[in-house]
Amino acid sequence: MIRFDDVTKTYMRGQHPAVENLDIEFTRGEFVFLVGASGSGKSTLMRMVLKEVAPTRGTVYVAGKDLSRIPSWKVPALRRDIGMVFQDFRLLPSKTAYQNIEFALAVIGTPRKVVRRLVPEMLEMVGLEDKGKRLPHELSGGEQQRVAIARAYVNRPSILLADEPTGNLDPATAGGILDLLAEINERGTTVVMATHDRTAVDRMHRRVVEMVGGLVVRDEERGTYATPAPVSVISGNLPDDSGHREDHPLEDAQDGTDTEDASAESSAAADDSRGDLSVADGTGSASSPDDVLEEDLIDEREALQVRDEDLLLEDAFAEEPVVSGPSLDETEEERR
Ligand code: ADP
Ligand code: MG
Repeated sequence: MIRFDDVTKTYMRGQHPAVENLDIEFTRGEFVFLVGASGSGKSTLMRMVLKEVAPTRGTVYVAGKDLSRIPSWKVPALRRDIGMVFQDFRLLPSKTAYQNIEFALAVIGTPRKVVRRLVPEMLEMVGLEDKGKRLPHELSGGEQQRVAIARAYVNRPSILLADEPTGNLDPATAGGILDLLAEINERGTTVVMATHDRTAVDRMHRRVVEMVGGLVVRDEERGTYATPAPVSVISGNLPDDSGHREDHPLEDAQDGTDTEDASAESSAAADDSRGDLSVADGTGSASSPDDVLEEDLIDEREALQVRDEDLLLEDAFAEEPVVSGPSLDETEEERR
């Protein structure tokens, strides 16, 4: 579903690569945790999947397609099949929960009848059926993230990328969000989640890919957040701490560096390609039924399991798209 073939990304010449010699594949239906300190390259990896960031070297494949060969007019179709969830939710502040989800359907020209059925269905799925009329600021962090997940999933994407989705939430709330992502994964969507949430990783016991300084240093099929402490540590002089995971050397650098890096990252992202996303989506928002990439992605999903929803949405794509609501550019303004 996603494959990196010897991918290196260096943002600025002379700088240490953000991602280096990445050779990894995420197969369809997988749930993958990406762990590693801030600055280790997790977000860069995800942004390459969205074609927001181009690799300096190597090739990224999504659904068998070399992303470097996808023309810009097809990028919106690619992104339509990839849901994205962020640590800071990124809801449209002046739109209600219902409208935030509706918007994701409106921009691809989904008929009103389908929208009226799908939005309540999504609100119910995320447990917010009675809060559709609330604005983001009238919702708790966990509820806002549920809306964001509903918005990311309403088009039934093949892939859901979640970049530290529980980073701003308390443990109990984070648990609920994780359950939701697990449910989405169970319904067939490949989920890649970057996280510092040790509890989440250890609870799910899924594939764990750990990055350090742009390199993958660990890839475990059923992993935990931290590598089990080396034998030398366990058998050392610290009987009380012996089973303790805090001993993991890679962990120490992590805590405390998050906040400053997060802000650097978001400002970097803002002037990088987020604007580009809105332009691309704006110009290509009308769905093109003859869109080869999208059809391929849909075909792939159908091969996996035929779902009524997909067929329905495909029908929706086949109709003349009517883009209603404000333009994406306008919304980008709101979002800032
Ligand atoms: P993570 O998500 O694991 O915190 P990132 O992928 O955001 O890691 O960052 C990896 C490295 O690339 C960091 O050193 C970061 O400073 C750098 N970086 C990320 N985005 C940009 C950018 N737009 N321009 C320049 N450097 C960047
Ligand atoms: Mg990041």
